[in-house]
Amino acid sequence: MSAPTFSFEFFPPKTPEGAEKLRVTRRQLAQFKPEFFSVTFGAGGTTQEGTLNAVLEIRQEGFAAAPHLSCIGSSRANIAEILQRYRDHGIRHIVALRGDIPSGMGDVGEFRYANELVAFIRETHGDWFHIEVAAYPEYHPQAQSAEADLRNFVNKVNAGANSAITQYFFNADAYFHFVDAVQARGVNIPIVPGIMPIQNFNQLARFSDMCGAEIPRWLKLRLASFGDDSASIRAFGLDFVTELSDRLLQNGAPGLHFYTLNAAGAVSTVWQRLGL
Ligand SMILES: Cc1cc2nc3c(=O)[nH]c(=O)nc-3n(C[C@H](O)[C@H](O)[C@H](O)COP(=O)(O)OP(=O)(O)OC[C@H]3O[C@@H](n4cnc5c(N)ncnc54)[C@H](O)[C@@H]3O)c2cc1C
Repeated sequence: MSAPTFSFEFFPPKTPEGAEKLRVTRRQLAQFKPEFFSVTFGAGGTTQEGTLNAVLEIRQEGFAAAPHLSCIGSSRANIAEILQRYRDHGIRHIVALRGDIPSGMGDVGEFRYANELVAFIRETHGDWFHIEVAAYPEYHPQAQSAEADLRNFVNKVNAGANSAITQYFFNADAYFHFVDAVQARGVNIPIVPGIMPIQNFNQLARFSDMCGAEIPRWLKLRLASFGDDSASIRAFGLDFVTELSDRLLQNGAPGLHFYTLNAAGAVSTVWQRLGL
């Protein structure tokens, strides 16, 4: 088995202060020598320049960086242009997603699902790009059924994905079950768990509702019981996320992808506690 791979995700900063904060975060996390950093892409292309600029800045500092690319609301011509720009900059690693239609933006564009984007990248650029796709151990919130979601994931992999990163989850069994289910359907690419630090309970609960990540009842009640005591929430969250990450790695996860929210603190602590 090859050594686990570790990566850190950022979102493109919107202000000069945000950009400076991200530089500091990145330098802190760079000491852990991740396989790559990735930078998200606002659906509908809203952060197109910000994503590319952040990726280029990371690469200038000598680190590998992968831009995300979401296709919903875009035309083939627009996606072709972005891919060509990435390629012209020598970028060979991308995270290919459908994205979600921003409210108020009616037109879904020329790509309906991420598998169509993956197929388009392969058609137009052959093997130039290493393509990561998203996976949902607790199933995607819009999935017609668990079975349909598994089938759709397998199709997306068969369209040409090299590896996958999961939505975050707090239940390791969901991840192992998902990996077993897709492997039984012939998938053999690495599926790297996405790890979300627990920092702010209300924010996490809201976001988890939207993206279909379940906070188990016991965990929700425990976190809620800390009320406004954010130090206790963070301390408990660190213990929980470290244990989850450790269990995933001990049981064969091929690496970890950390959702950093552009901050190094929690992720660095988890990393150090895991002894990576
Ligand atoms: C690691 C990771 C990174 C992300 N980064 C970003 C980002 O940078 N920018 C962003 O906007 N969003 C990002 N997202 C969120 C993502 O765009 C949303 O979760 C989105 O709702 C689904 O994207 P997808 O690529 O998984 O879509 P898909 O794989 O297309 O799946 C979406 C839904 O459609 C269903 N489906 C797929 N194919 C078919 C078909 N042929 N017929 C019927 N149904 C089908 C699936 O079962 C699923 O329910 C990220 C998510 C993850 C896990």
